[in-house]
Amino acid sequence: MDNLINKLALYLSSSSVTTVLTGAGMSVESGIPDFRSKSGWWRKIDPRTVATIEALETNYDLFHEFYCARIRGFQECYPHKGHHLLAEWEQTGLIQAIATQNVDGFHLVAGSKNVSELHGSIRNFRCNGCGSPANKADFLSKHTCVNCGGKLRPNIVLFGEMLPEQAWDTTLRNIQMSDLVIIIGTSLEVYPVNELPSMTNGKTVLINKDLLDSYHQFDLIIQGNAKEVLEKTDEIMRAK
Ligand code: NAD
Repeated sequence: MDNLINKLALYLSSSSVTTVLTGAGMSVESGIPDFRSKSGWWRKIDPRTVATIEALETNYDLFHEFYCARIRGFQECYPHKGHHLLAEWEQTGLIQAIATQNVDGFHLVAGSKNVSELHGSIRNFRCNGCGSPANKADFLSKHTCVNCGGKLRPNIVLFGEMLPEQAWDTTLRNIQMSDLVIIIGTSLEVYPVNELPSMTNGKTVLINKDLLDSYHQFDLIIQGNAKEVLEKTDEIMRAK
């Protein structure tokens, strides 16, 4: 693996614009299971059947129960060293932007600034009816919207919903400008984010625990854990 990490360090030091794209695997070492984890509290339930606009509209009790459990799970977890290294790398100009599919907000908590949360954030809430902002306590207590009586929800993108336009446009611009795109911890099965690696003329690097069935040809694939690979890359960059 050391040779591959050396190559990543070389790519990083010769790139002027680098974007990092992360998925659920980025936060697994923080204690948050990904979709395909064999363990964890959503083993019995496929989140894709609950994290939908249909579930919110037709089975709010289940939707609410599922997201209360997710929120409680997130409360006990924190960004790991890998998140903090990405924030440092942004500060020192090694990377320019992060786009994430994660709703945990960990990149922002770790101090990254230029972050596009493509699937929203579970730290914010709003009314599904009128869009008014809401707070976490009201969502957890299953209150309805003070304005219109609508159902409250986390400000995340559910299956079947559009991605936030600004986050998507910013990401697309960043990816198109990049000499290097580093993709970390994602199965690249969720549309339209899985199309992003094909939208750059720059080099693409995949850091992932499992090998993917992706049609995209990466310039470099490092099979490993996000935190460990980022730590090793940082060591090499510091020694340069
Ligand atoms: P996914 O579960 O489909 O794929 C995760 C990938 O990460 C897998 O290929 C797995 O091999 C890899 N992985 C697991 N542990 C890893 C580690 N320690 N280091 C590196 N790679 C690791 O997740 P996805 O592609 O992000 O898509 C799932 C959707 O679910 C996303 O839309 C996301 O919004 C949502 N999600 C978010 C969170 C979160 O916010 N933390 C958690 C789970 C799911």
